[in-house]
Amino acid sequence: MEAYENIKLDRERSRFEAMVDMRCPQCRQGKMFKYSNWRIDKFDDMHSNCPVCNLHFEVEPGFWYGAMFVSYGFSILILLLLGLTVYWGFGDPSIWGYILPIPVVSLLAVPFNFRMSRSVFLHLFGFVKYKPK
Ligand SMILES: [Zn+2]
Repeated sequence: MEAYENIKLDRERSRFEAMVDMRCPQCRQGKMFKYSNWRIDKFDDMHSNCPVCNLHFEVEPGFWYGAMFVSYGFSILILLLLGLTVYWGFGDPSIWGYILPIPVVSLLAVPFNFRMSRSVFLHLFGFVKYKPK
């Protein structure tokens, strides 16, 4: 499983591909997280170092606090899209039509938000240089 997770592509991944696929910014091969997106019980289990190039993902102490700002942005975007979907999809219901789906959608988005915000923050603000082998 581990070998499959870190399989090398015939071509190099773009920075965007590596970010969306939650891979190491230095080698763009190693996975940042130990389990797939669908393991809801272990969505936050992360490798401390890249399994391929050994980059320490938490590039400085407290680095992941910054990912909270990215997560906040994702949450706003998701809830904005939810509001627009309710407005146009359900013909502008009463206020409860907007309020009730918010906690449900927010909870469902937690694994995505957590993982993607860390990946985006590391790729954009980690200042890690890409070093292809
Ligand atoms: Zn790596």
